[in-house]
Amino acid sequence: MKLFFRTVMTALAAAIILCCGCADTGAGRTAQSENGPGAEDGKGDSPPGVGKNSAGPWQCVDTAMGTVVQQTIYAADQETAQDVSAQAMELLRELERERISWRLETSEVYRANALAGSEEGFLLSEELSGLLESCLLLWERSEGAFDVTLGTVTRLWDIDRWAGESGTEDFRIPGKAAVEQALSTCGSDRLRLVEEDSAAEPEEGNDPAESGVSGETHLRLFLPEGMQLDLGAVGKGLAMEKLITLLEERPNVSGAVISLGGSILTYGGKPDGTPWRVGIVDPFDTSESVGILTLEGQWCVSTSGDYERYVEVDGVRYHHILDPKTGAPAASDVRGVTILMKDGLVSDGLSTACYILGPEKGMTLAEEYGAEALFVMSDGKIEMSEGMKQCFMKR
Ligand code: ADP
Ligand code: MG
Repeated sequence: MKLFFRTVMTALAAAIILCCGCADTGAGRTAQSENGPGAEDGKGDSPPGVGKNSAGPWQCVDTAMGTVVQQTIYAADQETAQDVSAQAMELLRELERERISWRLETSEVYRANALAGSEEGFLLSEELSGLLESCLLLWERSEGAFDVTLGTVTRLWDIDRWAGESGTEDFRIPGKAAVEQALSTCGSDRLRLVEEDSAAEPEEGNDPAESGVSGETHLRLFLPEGMQLDLGAVGKGLAMEKLITLLEERPNVSGAVISLGGSILTYGGKPDGTPWRVGIVDPFDTSESVGILTLEGQWCVSTSGDYERYVEVDGVRYHHILDPKTGAPAASDVRGVTILMKDGLVSDGLSTACYILGPEKGMTLAEEYGAEALFVMSDGKIEMSEGMKQCFMKR
């Protein structure tokens, strides 16, 4: 059996190293921010409240949430920029550790999963209450294509390891019976969320002080036996939302681009007033882009594609976006979907949902959310919404 796997992290890290120091270039996993290190900075007048920064924006590359994080920050001074970028990294690591991870015992998702089948359920923080509500709405609107209750199935496919260091040499395609068994634990219609005033007693396993539950109305989650949450499709979306808040709290930051693998956040502007340029990766050659988005101000650009995480067995590609109907990688004539909208959380979930739904239903769904969508099809054609056409330029 020929087994080939690729961790985009490794490839991307290499790409970033190569790009450091180049002007007007950049790197990203599924979309590339093109405001390059030092590119065009120091030219032109600085807007009010922003000091001259002849050294260019603060730039750094690090890893968090299982992906490469690339930051470009324009601030009044380098100290502020450096401080904000360190805060951003801490925010991402905390989000993974305290909320999203299904592997770390410290996280809310881990603890909620551990209580699947219990009578008492699990009291969610305000943050995860909102996140889960938004996921359920997307489940409904996508006719079940997007489903965060697929945890047992994603674990069966061992998707996390495809991007990890441990390799996939012992990867085996799960058998039909195992997939069916895992699928029987899933279904967003089978979980229950009950509103609760959390001013009541704190409880074991969910300390309100630690979890951010603080006397407001929260949701208590009841997962049926065997069901496991997997918030992998929206983690970076929530991260983008939190990063926007972080940046807004720092008036000395005038602009930023933060790339979290397949999700890119643009914020504010550059001192010289030129727009952000974000490239959309070409699924057929991930070192290239199919085109560039020209954007002003705050936007979230999320991409999902079959080239992000996959294993290849005997020439067949098994990727990480699963069809809840089959429990297998979605059979789609789409190679990649990019969503453009203000809201990070929704954009991340939508890109996953639209990949499974395909362009026809996907466009309708994106429109329902007021989002712009771009589909790269397996024959190389590109389909996009009207709004996307206005800011996209083909390479
Ligand atoms: P990435 O996490 O690489 O940015 P996506 O945002 O498209 O990519 O999310 C893919 C992840 O979402 C998978 O790794 C898996 O954890 C989870 N997932 C896979 N299929 C679905 C689905 N149909 N609905 C919701 N989540 C999914
Ligand atoms: Mg997603």
